[in-house]
Amino acid sequence: MTSTAEGRPTAPAPVAAEPILELRGVGAAYGPYEALFDVSLTVRTGHALALVGANGAGKSTVARVVSGLVPTTGGTIVFDGRDITGCPAYEIARLGLSQLTEGRSVFASLTVEENLTLSFRRALGRRGIPDALAQAYEAFPRLGERRTQSAGTLSGGEQRMLALARVLVLHQRLLVVDELSFGLAPVVVDEVYSALARVLASGTSLLLIEQHVDRALVLADDVAVLSKGRVVYDGPVAGVEGRLGDLVLGRPGTGELSAEGAGED
Ligand code: ATP
Repeated sequence: MTSTAEGRPTAPAPVAAEPILELRGVGAAYGPYEALFDVSLTVRTGHALALVGANGAGKSTVARVVSGLVPTTGGTIVFDGRDITGCPAYEIARLGLSQLTEGRSVFASLTVEENLTLSFRRALGRRGIPDALAQAYEAFPRLGERRTQSAGTLSGGEQRMLALARVLVLHQRLLVVDELSFGLAPVVVDEVYSALARVLASGTSLLLIEQHVDRALVLADDVAVLSKGRVVYDGPVAGVEGRLGDLVLGRPGTGELSAEGAGED
């Protein structure tokens, strides 16, 4: 890894691969409060980028601007070669960008099968439903066993599986995952991660926001570090090996400020 004159780490030479998502100089604000400043980062097609940073660094805000849920105040977002800056969320979703958050991304009062059917009908039409259901149950047998159970009564881990089954079967181009393992027991987090690995292997690129940075790095070969709304590193994991914790915490020598409110790694 090289450093700037201020001691801030810089990424090694860029690695070749088509970007599926690029943020170029993106800003975002909640009313008068500016949350993101000049954020630039890249998710490479077929790869996972771990987005890490202390609490309040702006990670979820990145997820929201990418999905069109929070407007940008500047800069450009390019998804799959298209400028999607300012596009409404439904249009971005139609292009193949899905977002899953720590919240329950399912319709609680509908059964497992009704949840899946709803997504598949919208995306594939009525005739595509039986095949899509068969694929979902093959990938996640536990969902098959619980097909008539209402989604609201599934465990937290099973609800994440249900959300991931939709992404897996519909071959989304990019999945933005915001703290999907939040509140889950470690053994369930393992299951969620093995499902995410399958999603990645199926060709869906990942933007992975995760408190458990060590877990995210099992899947990710690129990492972007946010500190107080600014990117302080964006590049291969190898470029920050051994220094990621310091960078996230803003420890001396990293060119960043104090560790106030820092998250874990
Ligand atoms: P955490 O890891 O704690 O979830 P984060 O890195 O995801 O944090 P964000 O949720 O993106 O951080 O928040 C970035 C900043 O924007 C924080 O200072 C937060 O208080 C502020 N913020 C987030 N959502 C809103 C909102 N709806 N209104 C006002 N300020 C907000």
